[in-house]
Order: sequence, then structure tokens, then C-alpha cells
Amino acid sequence: MGTEVKGLLKKGKSRIVLLVADGVGGAPHPDFGGKTELEYAVTPNLDALAKKSVLGLMLPVNHGITPGSGPGHIGLFGYDPEELQIGRGVLEALGVGLALKEGDVAARANFATQDAQKVIIDRRAGRLATEECQRIVEMLAREIQEIDGVEIILKPGKEHRFVLILRGEGLGDQVKDTDPQKEGYRAHEPQALDEKSEKTAKILKAFLEKAHALLRNEPKANAILLRGFSQPPVLEKFPERYGLQALAIAIYPMYKGIARLFGFDTPDVEGELKDEVAYLEKSWEQYDFFFLHYKDTDKAGEDGDFAKKVKCIEYLDTFIPRILALQPDVLVITGDHSTPSILRGHSWHPSPVLLYSPFAGSDDAARFTERACKNGYLGQFPAHFLMNLILANALRLGKFGA
Ligand code: ZN
Repeated sequence: MGTEVKGLLKKGKSRIVLLVADGVGGAPHPDFGGKTELEYAVTPNLDALAKKSVLGLMLPVNHGITPGSGPGHIGLFGYDPEELQIGRGVLEALGVGLALKEGDVAARANFATQDAQKVIIDRRAGRLATEECQRIVEMLAREIQEIDGVEIILKPGKEHRFVLILRGEGLGDQVKDTDPQKEGYRAHEPQALDEKSEKTAKILKAFLEKAHALLRNEPKANAILLRGFSQPPVLEKFPERYGLQALAIAIYPMYKGIARLFGFDTPDVEGELKDEVAYLEKSWEQYDFFFLHYKDTDKAGEDGDFAKKVKCIEYLDTFIPRILALQPDVLVITGDHSTPSILRGHSWHPSPVLLYSPFAGSDDAARFTERACKNGYLGQFPAHFLMNLILANALRLGKFGA
């Protein structure tokens, strides 16, 4: 991870805002004059801010790597996403709003349809309706609460998906997926891949037996497939690592969940960006690091809706004056990865980043766009170095070496 900054930390009173517009970076679109979403949007406030900030491009993980939102945020929080990984089961659990404890084992689960020979004939149980999934998961949760002293926690997701958590002593997460990945095969037995995970496999086996007995009369959802067994990573929490009182303001459970893993305070904030900014204002005195997450840019990009993503960026722009009115010592605006509408999904493109602080200097750029950022003072750098830059500009880092 490069230079360990912990030994350099200084106490301070400076306040920092990290505004993450999820997937804000884009790519030129031929239907919109070869512009990106940021270029096409009308953003007077971001333009004015860009003029007095330094700009650059950040690699969320590494060159050519398209990250999920997990690795994207790990980098932004200053941890190397190639070293610290969050398992799929854990992410799924965070996504449905489950709080994980150290030692929990989480898995992505889904209902499937099997025939009398236990051959999986539909891995998605006919894309079960979400309400059906809720009904069945509630029934299972009522009937199976504990096995051999291990608590069983179940929570429905969308359609055929749900989350399973095992909570108890001495569990490992090295268990092979039971999902055969293809129809026409039987589900695998939960098989431990190391000694520490044998108890986990045993509990899972017992769980599946009980659950399948309870599901035997379900017409579609008569089998369960499990994958992505994982435990929350053991890590040095963000507030200790950086000596900051950290608050996460996010609406979506996934981002709140990731921030909670890193030790941020994660209050329930409901509504939309307007409510998030209001929350920022009202908590200004209590914290010194604010992670503010705006999801809609990513959603529009994933939908391939260029015009909508432009609108989201323009909407975000209207809140910049309110954030600046708080007089943050450092304000960073960036994304956790790019989500170009033209690709309808996350991409490998570096994220544009803007850093504003009285000590940062200025690129005198006319706008905050990918192309302006390419010419920026910060150059192109791995996202997990952003925290160093933030801390330095917040005057919270001392000298390295004598
Ligand atoms: Zn994202």
C-alpha cells in the first residue's frame, strides 16, 4: 500500500467531504456529439469549482480492470482493493441491509427447481416473484432458527435471491459453492476446503436437509443453491487508521454496509440527494470526515440512459453551493468507478477526480470532465492513494523521514 501514513498523522480540526457520485465517469457517445455525460451536462457550479481545484484521473483498482462497487469503495477509503477483498456473500448481505459481525459466514442463496432425482431444472425457480421469495424465506426463518448452537439468519432479496448468514463460534468460510452453475446437474454438497470450515459445511448440510424437507411441496422453489461463502474482512477501521470521526451518508444499504465494515457511523438516511445534503449540514459539527454517496448517476449509466445520467449530474451540480457553504477544508468529488451509458455497466475507465482545498493549487480548468481531468495536476493515480492526498491537504500529515 505504499507509505504507511499512520505514523505521520497529526491532529487537526479540518473537515473533509468525499462526495462519491457512483459511476460518474463516462465515455464519449456518438449520439450525443461524441461527448461524455459530464461533458454534455450543464454544470455551472462544478465548472466554477473546477476552476479553483486540482483535477486528475483515478484508477479504481488497476489499468483495464472493471471493478464492482465493493473494490471501488475500498480504494476510495484508502485500502488497496487488490489486497483487501470483500467476499460475494458479504456484499450480498450488506446489499439487503444485514449487519454482519466478525466471524459470521454469509452466502448468496437462491431458490431453484429440482426434479424427483434432485437434478436442477431451473436455477432461478422460474424467476420467482419477490413476494413469493419473501413468503418462503419467512417460513424458513421461522422454522430454522438455529442448528447446533449456530444461529441461522435469512433475509429475502429480489426475485429468487436471498441471503444466508451463519453466526456462531469457530466457523470458516472456505466452503465450495453448492450451485452447479448449470441446469441438468445436481447441486453439490457443501464441502469444506479447509479444517476450519468443516463445522460450517456440517451446519450448511443440516440446514439444506431441513430446508429442502420444508420446501418439498413448493411447485417452483423446492431447492436452494448457495455460493460465495465469505466472512467480513478483519481490518483496521477507517477512524483508527486515519484519526478521523467518519460519517457515511448513503441511502442504499450496500454502500452504508460497506462503510459500516470500515467503521463509519452509518445512520439511516432516507429519501434522496436533497435529504443526504440536509443530513450533511445537520451533522457538520459532530464529524470531521463525511462520505456522501450519490447513487443515481450509476443507475442511469447501467440503464444505458445517457440523457438521464446527464440530468443526474445536473441535479448533483445544484447542491455544490450548499456543500461549499459549509466551508470544508477539503472537498473531493469523484466516482467509485465509471459507468458509461454506452456500455450499460461499470467499466475500466479511470474516474475523474476533483480536489478542492486552499492548499491544493489549481488547474484553472474550465470544467469537471474526463478530458479536463486527463490534463490535471494530479495526473493518473491508483484510487487508494486518494486518502493520502486528502489528509495532506487537510494538513493532517506530518513529514516522512527527517
Ligand atoms: Zn458503484
